[in-house]
Amino acid sequence: MPRVIQKGLSDDELVQFLQRLQSIGQDFWQRNWRESMALPEDLPLHDHEAITRFLLLRTLLNQQGDTNKVRELVRALFAAFKRQLLDEPLKVVSQFYEVLAVFYRVGGEKGAKIYRVGALGGIKPLSLFLYRFAAFAFFISGLDRLLYEIVEDKLQQGVHNLWAFFRDDPILNGGWVGNDPKAVRMLTNWLIWLFGAIWRKVDVNLEDTLMVVDGHVDKVFCRAGAVKTVVYEPQRPFIIVAKDIRSGIETLVKGAPQAIPMFVDEGAFTIAMNWCFETQPNCAECPIRTACLAGRGSDEHLRWSAYRQNLP
Ligand code: SF4
Repeated sequence: MPRVIQKGLSDDELVQFLQRLQSIGQDFWQRNWRESMALPEDLPLHDHEAITRFLLLRTLLNQQGDTNKVRELVRALFAAFKRQLLDEPLKVVSQFYEVLAVFYRVGGEKGAKIYRVGALGGIKPLSLFLYRFAAFAFFISGLDRLLYEIVEDKLQQGVHNLWAFFRDDPILNGGWVGNDPKAVRMLTNWLIWLFGAIWRKVDVNLEDTLMVVDGHVDKVFCRAGAVKTVVYEPQRPFIIVAKDIRSGIETLVKGAPQAIPMFVDEGAFTIAMNWCFETQPNCAECPIRTACLAGRGSDEHLRWSAYRQNLP
């Protein structure tokens, strides 16, 4: 893969950049965590087991999906099947025509509003939904104790134990996408937040949380100059190769004093969704403009994009 070494932020500028992202991300998280998780109104927050199971289904289905549509889908599934969806998902499997009705109602005739599968070589949206739902149903049915208790135990032993538990489970492994699924990182952060800040069951240091680092987060780091070595696609110059940059960003954030990875990650994602668009980013109104080299006028930095060709 081609790569370039670009001008980077100074040490002081980098600290300022991360602090601003963290502040934006923390604010967003505290106001929106419930909506991000798509928790149904009639699923009580004190029902720890149900919430934990719901979030597992939510993250499995979220992979490669349109996030807003996946939120709608999991809420619609819960509205249709209520607690049975979470308590006895194999019984829900036995009513699968009703599940399909919900899937197509939310996702359109072929489910393509939920999963856009154009680049996936003939795989259907329904196929993506089926194997993820099956992984959830089989995993829940095989539990010999409450999932909530397992999560609490794992978390007591450290964030990495919880992360590895979900990532490496032999059944869930069939439902995750890739070897280091972003969805597992998202699930781990959500559970840390609930078990620590909301339910106060486990004392977790938020500095141990994980970066999710999707392509949009990568893009903000590259445009800002926080990433100096940028790897990009050979066929489509200036589209960054997110997976080759992710670990560098995670190491960078982990090494910054008092940085909280999940808030920094959320902050960068918020910037990407509201100002740092693929084409025509709104630098003039971006709240981190002074901490970003592209925002300060560097076209060399501004050219990077996550998914769409963004020729200068
Ligand atoms: S200043 Fe511009 S390039 Fe930098 S993060 Fe904001 S929108 Fe993106």
